[in-house]
Amino acid sequence: MTKKIWVINSFPKLFESYLDSGVAGQALRGERGVPFELHSVVLRDFSEKGFKGVDSAPFGGSEGMVIRADVLKNALIEGIVRPGNYGDNFKEKLHIVFTSPRGKVWSNEYCKEFASRVWEEDCTKDLVFICGRYEGIDERFLEAYVDEVISIGDFVITGGEVAVLTILDSALRFIPGVLGNKLSSLNESFNGGLLEEPVYTRPREFEGLNVPDVLLSGNHKAIAEFKKEERIRITKKFRPDLLDD
Ligand code: SAH
Repeated sequence: MTKKIWVINSFPKLFESYLDSGVAGQALRGERGVPFELHSVVLRDFSEKGFKGVDSAPFGGSEGMVIRADVLKNALIEGIVRPGNYGDNFKEKLHIVFTSPRGKVWSNEYCKEFASRVWEEDCTKDLVFICGRYEGIDERFLEAYVDEVISIGDFVITGGEVAVLTILDSALRFIPGVLGNKLSSLNESFNGGLLEEPVYTRPREFEGLNVPDVLLSGNHKAIAEFKKEERIRITKKFRPDLLDD
């Protein structure tokens, strides 16, 4: 069954250009053997005053503007529930994610867990991402509709679009069939608790620096051993904290 991914956002060009690029773009166009459809739902199309009606000043006074709950609800119902035919019990058919600094912090483990939870075969729910902007979104929309809140790290970015692309791009790598070589996501940094070893390609000599001999030896056992040692060396050097536990 086709997995639909709906993204309520304010900057659709970001998603259009992403869809045009690379392996993840192909995957989201449903062209890598996994039936995905990415639908961009543009928030301003669901406000009576267009872009100007999307946000309003916060009650109680503080800086910035807040995205209105009624506009978000309108985008959810008219932009997703109706065209997607989810019906009155749409909450049972959609998994709604908001991106925010308050969310659970994204990591390789979380990413893997999310990918298997939302894409496993018996999970028929489609995905909805809500991208915040300005100071964020009215809390009442969160309470009423949001199932999961994800943060991409302890810093603040200007809008949820980049966060959603980060989440999607990294999660897609764990969906079987998306990467050409099924094993390649397992050999990357963080899987197995280590960073990836340094990699080399042509030319064999670059500015007086040579490719390590063992990699040119054709001795597969020695190469595997060398790569393992290198992963440990690089992890000790760049991320010793990964070796702590
Ligand atoms: N005033 C908010 C930040 C708003 S930033 C605060 O202090 O918490 C505007 C939007 O960008 C947010 O609503 C959220 O959707 C997105 N965003 C910002 N930082 C993020 C992060 N670390 N992870 C995920 N989304 C983030």
